[in-house]
Amino acid sequence: MTPRHGAPSTPPLAPTNPQSPIPNPVLPTGCLHVVATPIGHLDDLSPRALKTLAEADLICAEDTRHTQQLLAAKGLKRPLLALHEHNESAQVEAVLARLRAGEQIALVSDAGTPLISDPGFRLVCAARAAGLKVSPVPGPCAAIAALSVAGLPSDRFAFEGFLPAKSGARRERLQSLLGEPRTLVFYESSHRILECLDDAAAVFGEARRAVIARELTKLFETVLDGPLPQLVELLRADPNQQRGEFVLMIEGAPEDSDAALREGQRIFAVLREHLPASKAAKLAAELSGAPRKALYAVVSDG
Ligand code: SAM
Repeated sequence: MTPRHGAPSTPPLAPTNPQSPIPNPVLPTGCLHVVATPIGHLDDLSPRALKTLAEADLICAEDTRHTQQLLAAKGLKRPLLALHEHNESAQVEAVLARLRAGEQIALVSDAGTPLISDPGFRLVCAARAAGLKVSPVPGPCAAIAALSVAGLPSDRFAFEGFLPAKSGARRERLQSLLGEPRTLVFYESSHRILECLDDAAAVFGEARRAVIARELTKLFETVLDGPLPQLVELLRADPNQQRGEFVLMIEGAPEDSDAALREGQRIFAVLREHLPASKAAKLAAELSGAPRKALYAVVSDG
């Protein structure tokens, strides 16, 4: 490789560790390793994730029985500590103490990347605030896996996690996303996929393309795409398509002005049922990006 002007002519000797370039003989070097685990296919546990788990003094796991099964499948036996949304705050101090004492501690969730709609946020925050080392062992994540096969724009996307459980709140959240130009990404379980799709179809209508990625990396992996009302019908007609775990992706709002106007009109029509015309036009303009005056004029002409 020809060195660029001013660049050193020899490559660096070894990767440097910015936090601790020279091993410190006094301070122990504990580390919290945030380890991604498979979302289905066990072969998706990376060699580095396997090594990190095998060498960990302790594995903090969302559900110890679940992680025990993964460890057993990989021929590992390590001490486990339950760390889930109900006890995370209570466990943080004990885990920090062990990190300060120099232990290598792995954090895993039941599937995929910890903290992505999974526990671990409080522990990671606290470890960082305490100046302790936190290092990722990246790997599977359902949202990223789904985007990689959806064929929807993925240069920018908005990860929304789980929608509210109740229909009213869910529709409200979806309404608030009507003008979002980035591809929308949601997690959903089998219990609510149909009602969630129903609400999405009511809010976004025919025009938006959507993709449902079901049971990725598993036996019944299915990726369906089409307009939302069509997907609702597909799932309604086939209960098997309602089973398993889902990532729902919805095309973002159109960015060109004609399309924004159409979108604005649609939103205006929905809001107009509940609000005075001027307020509805103002909100519809904000959500769609269409000019308020143009929107108002088109609607009052009609
Ligand atoms: N931390 C995980 C990750 O990195 O993707 C997500 C955990 S969240 C509690 C579980 C949700 O992720 C499921 O309800 C589903 O929406 C999605 N999910 C997990 N595994 C999946 C799979 N194999 N196929 C499709 N969606 C999946």
